[in-house]
Amino acid sequence: MTMFDLISISTGSDRLIIAKVDSETRALRLLYNKEFQLTNALLTSEIFKFLDSAGSFRAIGIAAAGIIEQNRGIIERTTTNKVRNLKLADILEKRYKVPVSLYNISVASVIGEVLFGTGKGFKNVVYLSLSTLIRGGVVTNDHVLLGKEGNAHEIGHIVVSSEGNLKCSCGSYGHWIAYCSGFGIPQFVRYLLDTKYKGSATKLRSMKNVSAKALFGLDKKDKIAHKIIVNDIGRLNAIGVANAINAYDPEIVIIGGRIAYNNPKLIMDPIIRNMGKYIVNRRPRIALSKWEGEGKFLGAVSDFLIA
Ligand SMILES: [Zn+2]
Repeated sequence: MTMFDLISISTGSDRLIIAKVDSETRALRLLYNKEFQLTNALLTSEIFKFLDSAGSFRAIGIAAAGIIEQNRGIIERTTTNKVRNLKLADILEKRYKVPVSLYNISVASVIGEVLFGTGKGFKNVVYLSLSTLIRGGVVTNDHVLLGKEGNAHEIGHIVVSSEGNLKCSCGSYGHWIAYCSGFGIPQFVRYLLDTKYKGSATKLRSMKNVSAKALFGLDKKDKIAHKIIVNDIGRLNAIGVANAINAYDPEIVIIGGRIAYNNPKLIMDPIIRNMGKYIVNRRPRIALSKWEGEGKFLGAVSDFLIA
Protein backbone atom coordinates (compact mmCIF):
# COMPACT_ATOMS: atom_id res chain seq x y z
CA MET A 1 0.00 0.00 0.00
CA THR A 2 1.32 3.42 -0.86
CA MET A 3 1.53 5.64 2.18
CA PHE A 4 2.53 9.03 0.74
CA ASP A 5 4.11 9.79 4.08
CA LEU A 6 6.46 12.59 3.02
CA ILE A 7 5.78 16.16 1.96
CA SER A 8 7.99 17.67 -0.73
CA ILE A 9 7.87 21.40 -1.42
CA SER A 10 9.34 23.23 -4.39
CA THR A 11 9.47 26.98 -4.03
CA GLY A 12 11.01 29.88 -5.92
CA SER A 13 10.11 33.49 -6.55
CA ASP A 14 6.82 32.97 -8.36
CA ARG A 15 5.71 29.37 -8.02
CA LEU A 16 4.90 27.03 -5.15
CA ILE A 17 4.42 23.30 -5.75
CA ILE A 18 3.65 20.79 -3.04
CA ALA A 19 3.79 17.03 -3.54
CA LYS A 20 3.45 13.92 -1.46
CA VAL A 21 6.05 11.21 -1.81
CA ASP A 22 5.89 7.61 -0.68
CA SER A 23 9.09 6.89 1.23
CA GLU A 24 9.19 3.24 0.15
CA THR A 25 8.00 3.18 -3.46
CA ARG A 26 9.14 6.76 -4.34
CA ALA A 27 5.75 7.34 -5.88
CA LEU A 28 5.09 11.04 -6.33
CA ARG A 29 1.79 12.86 -6.33
CA LEU A 30 1.61 16.58 -7.14
CA LEU A 31 -1.16 18.11 -5.04
CA TYR A 32 -0.71 21.87 -5.17
CA ASN A 33 0.69 24.05 -7.94
CA LYS A 34 0.19 27.81 -8.00
CA GLU A 35 1.91 30.71 -9.64
CA PHE A 36 2.00 33.94 -7.63
CA GLN A 37 4.48 36.48 -6.34
CA LEU A 38 5.83 34.77 -3.22
CA THR A 39 6.63 36.74 -0.09
CA ASN A 40 7.55 35.46 3.38
CA ALA A 41 3.96 35.83 4.58
CA LEU A 42 2.25 34.43 1.49
CA LEU A 43 4.60 31.49 1.15
CA THR A 44 4.18 30.37 4.75
CA SER A 45 0.41 30.94 4.85
CA GLU A 46 -0.12 28.97 1.61
CA ILE A 47 1.98 26.08 2.94
CA PHE A 48 0.10 26.14 6.26
CA LYS A 49 -3.25 26.16 4.50
CA PHE A 50 -2.31 23.12 2.48
CA LEU A 51 -0.49 21.11 5.16
CA ASP A 52 -3.08 21.75 7.90
CA SER A 53 -5.49 19.60 5.92
CA ALA A 54 -3.00 17.26 4.24
CA GLY A 55 -3.46 14.30 6.57
CA SER A 56 -0.53 12.74 8.35
CA PHE A 57 3.08 12.87 7.22
CA ARG A 58 6.35 12.13 8.93
CA ALA A 59 8.82 14.55 7.33
CA ILE A 60 9.08 17.53 4.99
CA GLY A 61 11.70 18.27 2.33
CA ILE A 62 12.06 21.66 0.67
CA ALA A 63 13.76 22.42 -2.66
CA ALA A 64 14.24 26.18 -2.82
CA ALA A 65 15.20 28.19 -5.88
CA GLY A 66 17.26 31.04 -4.55
CA ILE A 67 20.08 31.46 -2.08
CA ILE A 68 19.74 29.37 1.06
CA GLU A 69 21.60 28.77 4.29
CA GLN A 70 21.18 25.05 4.37
CA ASN A 71 22.42 24.20 7.86
CA ARG A 72 20.08 26.73 9.46
CA GLY A 73 17.17 25.92 7.16
CA ILE A 74 16.90 29.50 5.95
CA ILE A 75 15.86 30.79 2.54
CA GLU A 76 18.09 33.82 2.41
CA ARG A 77 16.59 35.31 -0.73
CA THR A 78 14.79 34.44 -3.95
CA THR A 79 15.57 35.97 -7.34
CA THR A 80 13.02 38.72 -6.89
CA ASN A 81 14.14 39.37 -3.29
CA LYS A 82 10.53 39.15 -2.10
CA VAL A 83 11.28 36.17 0.13
CA ARG A 84 14.07 37.13 2.52
CA ASN A 85 15.69 35.49 5.55
CA LEU A 86 12.82 33.10 5.97
CA LYS A 87 13.48 30.40 8.58
CA LEU A 88 11.15 28.04 6.79
CA ALA A 89 12.56 24.76 8.15
CA ASP A 90 12.21 26.00 11.76
CA ILE A 91 8.73 27.35 11.21
CA LEU A 92 7.48 24.06 9.72
CA GLU A 93 9.27 21.90 12.30
CA LYS A 94 7.62 23.80 15.15
CA ARG A 95 4.13 23.73 13.65
CA TYR A 96 4.04 20.12 12.45
CA LYS A 97 6.54 18.46 14.85
CA VAL A 98 8.32 16.60 12.05
CA PRO A 99 11.88 16.83 10.70
CA VAL A 100 12.39 19.26 7.82
CA SER A 101 15.27 19.39 5.34
CA LEU A 102 16.13 22.24 3.00
CA TYR A 103 18.06 21.99 -0.26
CA ASN A 104 18.96 24.34 -3.05
CA ILE A 105 16.67 23.30 -5.90
CA SER A 106 19.54 22.36 -8.24
CA VAL A 107 21.18 20.25 -5.58
CA ALA A 108 17.84 18.52 -4.89
CA SER A 109 17.49 17.87 -8.62
CA VAL A 110 20.87 16.22 -9.05
CA ILE A 111 20.24 14.04 -5.97
CA GLY A 112 16.94 12.91 -7.51
CA GLU A 113 18.59 12.22 -10.85
CA VAL A 114 21.40 10.17 -9.32
CA LEU A 115 19.19 8.17 -6.97
CA PHE A 116 16.24 7.47 -9.26
CA GLY A 117 16.60 9.16 -12.63
CA THR A 118 18.85 9.39 -15.66
CA GLY A 119 21.96 9.58 -13.47
CA LYS A 120 21.35 6.26 -11.73
CA GLY A 121 24.49 4.13 -11.69
CA PHE A 122 26.88 7.04 -12.30
CA LYS A 123 29.31 8.40 -9.70
CA ASN A 124 30.16 11.65 -11.47
CA VAL A 125 27.17 13.58 -12.67
CA VAL A 126 26.41 17.14 -13.73
CA TYR A 127 22.75 18.13 -13.92
CA LEU A 128 21.85 21.30 -15.81
CA SER A 129 18.39 22.80 -15.89
CA LEU A 130 17.42 25.10 -18.75
CA SER A 131 14.28 26.83 -17.62
CA THR A 132 13.21 30.33 -16.55
CA LEU A 133 16.78 30.51 -15.24
CA ILE A 134 19.71 28.12 -15.70
CA ARG A 135 20.95 26.09 -12.74
CA GLY A 136 23.19 23.14 -12.08
CA GLY A 137 23.91 20.42 -9.56
CA VAL A 138 26.98 18.22 -9.28
CA VAL A 139 27.79 14.82 -7.83
CA THR A 140 31.43 13.84 -7.88
CA ASN A 141 32.73 10.43 -6.71
CA ASP A 142 29.29 9.80 -5.21
CA HIS A 143 29.44 13.01 -3.15
CA VAL A 144 26.92 15.77 -3.63
CA LEU A 145 28.78 19.06 -3.90
CA LEU A 146 26.99 21.52 -1.63
CA GLY A 147 29.26 24.50 -1.10
CA LYS A 148 29.58 26.31 2.23
CA GLU A 149 25.89 27.13 2.52
CA GLY A 150 24.39 24.69 0.04
CA ASN A 151 24.36 26.93 -3.02
CA ALA A 152 27.07 25.38 -5.20
CA HIS A 153 26.72 25.48 -8.98
CA GLU A 154 24.93 28.69 -9.74
CA ILE A 155 26.30 27.82 -13.14
CA GLY A 156 23.80 29.94 -15.03
CA HIS A 157 25.95 32.90 -14.01
CA ILE A 158 29.09 31.76 -15.83
CA VAL A 159 30.16 34.09 -18.60
CA VAL A 160 29.39 32.72 -22.08
CA SER A 161 29.70 35.97 -24.01
CA SER A 162 32.85 38.04 -23.65
CA GLU A 163 31.11 41.01 -25.26
CA GLY A 164 28.72 40.95 -22.33
CA ASN A 165 26.09 43.03 -24.06
CA LEU A 166 23.08 41.52 -22.31
CA LYS A 167 22.13 41.86 -18.66
CA CYS A 168 21.50 38.79 -16.53
CA SER A 169 18.72 38.29 -13.95
CA CYS A 170 21.42 38.94 -11.33
CA GLY A 171 22.29 42.34 -12.77
CA SER A 172 25.68 41.36 -14.24
CA TYR A 173 26.49 41.03 -17.93
CA GLY A 174 27.36 38.21 -20.32
CA HIS A 175 26.04 35.38 -18.13
CA TRP A 176 24.52 32.24 -19.68
CA ILE A 177 21.09 33.11 -18.22
CA ALA A 178 21.11 36.45 -20.07
CA TYR A 179 21.03 34.60 -23.43
CA CYS A 180 19.62 31.08 -23.21
CA SER A 181 17.12 30.95 -20.34
CA GLY A 182 13.42 31.76 -20.38
CA PHE A 183 14.47 35.07 -18.85
CA GLY A 184 17.19 35.71 -21.43
CA ILE A 185 15.77 34.49 -24.73
CA PRO A 186 13.43 37.47 -25.36
CA GLN A 187 16.25 40.00 -25.00
CA PHE A 188 18.73 37.84 -26.94
CA VAL A 189 16.29 37.56 -29.86
CA ARG A 190 15.71 41.32 -29.86
CA TYR A 191 19.44 41.93 -29.74
CA LEU A 192 20.14 39.55 -32.65
CA LEU A 193 17.39 41.09 -34.80
CA ASP A 194 19.01 44.51 -34.31
CA THR A 195 22.54 43.32 -35.03
CA LYS A 196 23.42 40.00 -36.71
CA TYR A 197 20.05 39.60 -38.48
CA LYS A 198 19.40 43.29 -39.13
CA GLY A 199 17.53 43.55 -42.41
CA SER A 200 16.56 39.85 -42.51
CA ALA A 201 12.86 39.20 -43.00
CA THR A 202 11.41 37.26 -40.08
CA LYS A 203 8.12 36.87 -38.27
CA LEU A 204 10.02 37.55 -35.04
CA ARG A 205 10.41 41.22 -35.89
CA SER A 206 6.73 42.06 -35.47
CA MET A 207 6.47 40.23 -32.16
CA LYS A 208 6.72 42.33 -29.01
CA ASN A 209 8.21 39.79 -26.69
CA VAL A 210 9.58 36.55 -28.14
CA SER A 211 9.33 34.01 -25.35
CA ALA A 212 11.24 30.74 -25.48
CA LYS A 213 7.98 28.98 -26.30
CA ALA A 214 7.20 31.36 -29.18
CA LEU A 215 10.72 31.15 -30.60
CA PHE A 216 10.92 27.34 -30.56
CA GLY A 217 7.38 27.18 -31.95
CA LEU A 218 8.59 29.03 -35.06
CA ASP A 219 11.53 26.71 -35.71
CA LYS A 220 10.05 25.05 -38.79
CA LYS A 221 8.22 28.13 -40.04
CA ASP A 222 10.87 30.82 -39.89
CA LYS A 223 14.48 30.60 -41.10
CA ILE A 224 15.81 33.24 -38.75
CA ALA A 225 14.09 31.62 -35.76
CA HIS A 226 15.75 28.33 -36.73
CA LYS A 227 19.16 30.02 -37.04
CA ILE A 228 18.80 31.69 -33.65
CA ILE A 229 17.82 28.41 -31.99
CA VAL A 230 20.51 26.25 -33.57
CA ASN A 231 23.41 28.62 -34.19
CA ASP A 232 23.13 31.33 -31.56
CA ILE A 233 21.41 29.78 -28.55
CA GLY A 234 22.82 26.36 -29.46
CA ARG A 235 26.40 27.58 -29.53
CA LEU A 236 26.13 29.41 -26.20
CA ASN A 237 24.49 26.35 -24.62
CA ALA A 238 27.41 24.27 -25.89
CA ILE A 239 29.84 26.74 -24.27
CA GLY A 240 27.92 26.57 -20.99
CA VAL A 241 27.83 22.78 -20.98
CA ALA A 242 31.52 22.62 -21.94
CA ASN A 243 32.42 24.90 -19.02
CA ALA A 244 30.63 22.51 -16.67
CA ILE A 245 32.44 19.53 -18.22
CA ASN A 246 35.82 21.25 -17.93
CA ALA A 247 35.15 22.14 -14.30
CA TYR A 248 33.76 18.81 -13.03
CA ASP A 249 34.85 16.08 -15.50
CA PRO A 250 31.54 14.19 -15.24
CA GLU A 251 30.74 10.78 -16.73
CA ILE A 252 27.35 12.11 -17.72
CA VAL A 253 25.75 15.51 -18.19
CA ILE A 254 21.99 15.43 -17.73
CA ILE A 255 20.07 18.27 -19.32
CA GLY A 256 16.70 19.06 -17.80
CA GLY A 257 14.39 22.01 -17.27
CA ARG A 258 11.31 23.12 -19.15
CA ILE A 259 13.03 24.49 -22.28
CA ALA A 260 14.96 21.26 -22.83
CA TYR A 261 12.01 19.06 -21.91
CA ASN A 262 9.75 20.79 -24.45
CA ASN A 263 12.36 21.00 -27.24
CA PRO A 264 14.65 18.01 -26.74
CA LYS A 265 16.17 17.75 -30.20
CA LEU A 266 16.57 21.48 -30.80
CA ILE A 267 18.38 21.86 -27.49
CA MET A 268 20.45 18.68 -27.44
CA ASP A 269 21.71 18.49 -31.05
CA PRO A 270 23.55 21.85 -31.11
CA ILE A 271 25.11 21.14 -27.72
CA ILE A 272 26.37 17.73 -28.82
CA ARG A 273 27.58 19.10 -32.16
CA ASN A 274 29.41 22.16 -30.80
CA MET A 275 30.77 21.29 -27.37
CA GLY A 276 33.80 19.40 -28.72
CA LYS A 277 35.37 22.74 -29.64
CA TYR A 278 35.37 23.85 -26.03
CA ILE A 279 36.12 20.82 -23.87
CA VAL A 280 39.55 19.66 -22.78
CA ASN A 281 38.77 16.28 -21.24
CA ARG A 282 37.26 13.11 -22.65
CA ARG A 283 33.73 13.61 -23.86
CA PRO A 284 31.12 12.46 -21.33
CA ARG A 285 27.66 11.19 -22.16
CA ILE A 286 25.07 13.88 -22.71
CA ALA A 287 21.53 12.84 -21.89
CA LEU A 288 18.16 14.46 -21.60
CA SER A 289 16.48 14.10 -18.22
CA LYS A 290 13.51 11.78 -18.38
CA TRP A 291 11.64 14.11 -16.05
CA GLU A 292 10.02 17.48 -16.47
CA GLY A 293 11.12 18.37 -12.95
CA GLU A 294 10.15 15.47 -10.71
CA GLY A 295 13.76 14.89 -9.62
CA LYS A 296 13.81 17.84 -7.24
CA PHE A 297 10.86 16.47 -5.25
CA LEU A 298 12.63 13.17 -4.65
CA GLY A 299 15.94 14.90 -3.92
CA ALA A 300 14.31 17.26 -1.40
CA VAL A 301 13.04 14.34 0.70
CA SER A 302 16.04 12.07 0.07
CA ASP A 303 17.06 12.21 3.77
CA PHE A 304 13.79 10.52 4.72
CA LEU A 305 13.43 7.82 2.06
CA ILE A 306 13.53 4.20 3.17
CA ALA A 307 16.40 2.36 1.49
ZN1 LIG B 1 23.97 36.31 -13.63
